[in-house]
Amino acid sequence: MKDFLTVIGAGLAGSEAAWQAAERGVQVVLYEMRPATRTPAHKTDNCAELVCSNSLGNNLAPSAPFILKEELRSLKSIVIASGDKNSVPAGSALAVDRDLFSQEITSKLSNHPNITFKREEVVEIPQEGPVIIATGPLTSPRLSEQISKLIGQEYLYFYDALSPIVDANSIDYDKAFFASRYDKGDADYLNCPMNAEQYYEFVRELKASEKVPFASFEKPIYFEGCMPVEELADRGDRTLAFGPLKPVGLPDPKTGRMAHAVVQLRRENRESSAYNLVGFQTKLTYPEQKRVFSMIPGLENAEFFRFGAIHRNTYINSPSLLNSELELKSHPGTYFAGQVTGVEGYVESSAMGLLAGLSAVAKITGSPYTPPPADTALGALINYLTASRSKGFQPMNINFGLFWVQGMRIRDKKLRNQKIATNALKKIKEWSEEHPVSTHS
Ligand SMILES: Cc1cc2nc3c(=O)[nH]c(=O)nc-3n(C[C@H](O)[C@H](O)[C@H](O)COP(=O)(O)OP(=O)(O)OC[C@H]3O[C@@H](n4cnc5c(N)ncnc54)[C@H](O)[C@@H]3O)c2cc1C
Repeated sequence: MKDFLTVIGAGLAGSEAAWQAAERGVQVVLYEMRPATRTPAHKTDNCAELVCSNSLGNNLAPSAPFILKEELRSLKSIVIASGDKNSVPAGSALAVDRDLFSQEITSKLSNHPNITFKREEVVEIPQEGPVIIATGPLTSPRLSEQISKLIGQEYLYFYDALSPIVDANSIDYDKAFFASRYDKGDADYLNCPMNAEQYYEFVRELKASEKVPFASFEKPIYFEGCMPVEELADRGDRTLAFGPLKPVGLPDPKTGRMAHAVVQLRRENRESSAYNLVGFQTKLTYPEQKRVFSMIPGLENAEFFRFGAIHRNTYINSPSLLNSELELKSHPGTYFAGQVTGVEGYVESSAMGLLAGLSAVAKITGSPYTPPPADTALGALINYLTASRSKGFQPMNINFGLFWVQGMRIRDKKLRNQKIATNALKKIKEWSEEHPVSTHS
C-alpha cells in the first residue's frame, strides 16, 4: 500500500477529498484532465467548477440540504467554506459567484504543500491503492472503459431517467388508494385516479409547460427507452392513458369503477416515507413540475423530495459494489466519490468526496474508521448508496426520506424536521471528534 493518496478528478468531490486528506497531513496527487481534455459541460480550467446553476441549494434550517451543509461546515469542507465566502444574495439558497468560488478552491489546492497537482487525463486506474475515482457524471470515455472493465459493464450506467419523489405525509389519502393491478400480489402501489376532464386538462398543461432543452450530448437517451412523460403526451392526447397512466385492473374503491387514467406511485423506501411517480421521468423545469404534477388528484399539496430529470450521468451501481467506506468491495484501496457513486447534486457530490477522503486517510494512517451514523445527512447518503436495493438503483439527493429516524412519532412536520436536524448536528459533532483535522505541514 502506498503512503500517498491518488485522487482522479478535481471537480466538487475530488477537490474536497484531496483537501480533507491534505489537511490531515497525507500526501495527495490530484489529477485533472482539463484544460487539455475537456468535458461537454465544463467551460473553465478551475477546480470545482459549477457546470450549470450557481446554487448550492437550500440553506434554510431545518431543511435536509441545510443539515448536510451544516455537517460539512463542521467538518471544515473546502467547498462549503468557499461557498459561504463567495455567496451572492439568493433568498433561502446558498448561491455563489461561480468564478470566485472555483478560483478560490483552485488556488488553495494548488498552493497546498501536501498536494501535487497534475493536469492530465488518467486513462488507467492505478493498480495500487489508495486511489479515489471522482471523475463525475462526464467521466472521460477512456476512463469509463477502464471503470467498466474493473467493475463489470452491467454495473456502469450512462443516463439518468429520474421520476419525481414526494413526501408520503403530503399525499391526500382520501383521493389516492392502495392497490396492485388486478389485485395481483400485495397492494404496493398508491394510485391517483383521474376522470376524463382532469386527465385532458393535465395533458394540456403538460404539453404547454416549460421544459429544459436537451444538451447536444444528451440526445441518445431517446433511444434508450426512457421517454419523457411530456414527450409521450406530445404523441397524442390519449397516449398516456394507454401507457404509464393506464387504468385497467385498478378500479377506484370509492366508485367501484375504472377511472379514465391512473397515476401510480411506488414506495421509495422501507419506511414508506416517500413515493415516486412511476414513469414520470421528465425534462420539465422544477417549478413546472411542481405546478403541473400538483394537478394530479391526491398530489395537490405534494412536497417534492426530488424532482424528475433526464440527463447524461455516468454512475455505478454502488449498492452492489461499494462498502460503507465508499471502497470497492472487490478491490480494497479503490474508492469512488461524487456523482459517480449515485448521489445527485453539487453538495451531495462534495459530501461523498469528503467521506471518501476520510476513509482513505484512515487506511493510510492505519486509524479506525466508521462512517457517520444514518441519522445524520452524511450517514443517510452513505446508507442510501450502500444499503439500498441494487436493482433499479437511481441517483438521489439528500432529503428527509433518507434519514434513519426510528420511533420519532411527531406529527408536526416542522417540529419533526427540527428534531432530526438537532439530532444530526449533535451526532456529526461527536463523529467529527473521531476524525480531527491535524495541522497539515
Ligand atoms: C450538464 C450537467 C448539469 C448539472 N447541473 C447541476 C446543477 O445545476 N446543480 C447541481 O447541484 N448539480 C448539477 N449537476 C449534477 C452534479 O452535481 C454535478 O455534475 C457535480 O459537478 C458533480 O460533482 P463531481 O465532483 O462528482 O463531478 P465533477 O464536478 O464533474 O468533477 C469531475 C472532474 O473530473 C474530471 N475528469 C473526468 N474524467 C477524467 C479523467 N479521466 N482524468 C482526469 N480528470 C477527469 C473532470 O474534468 C471534472 O473536473 C449537473 C450535471 C451535469 C452533467
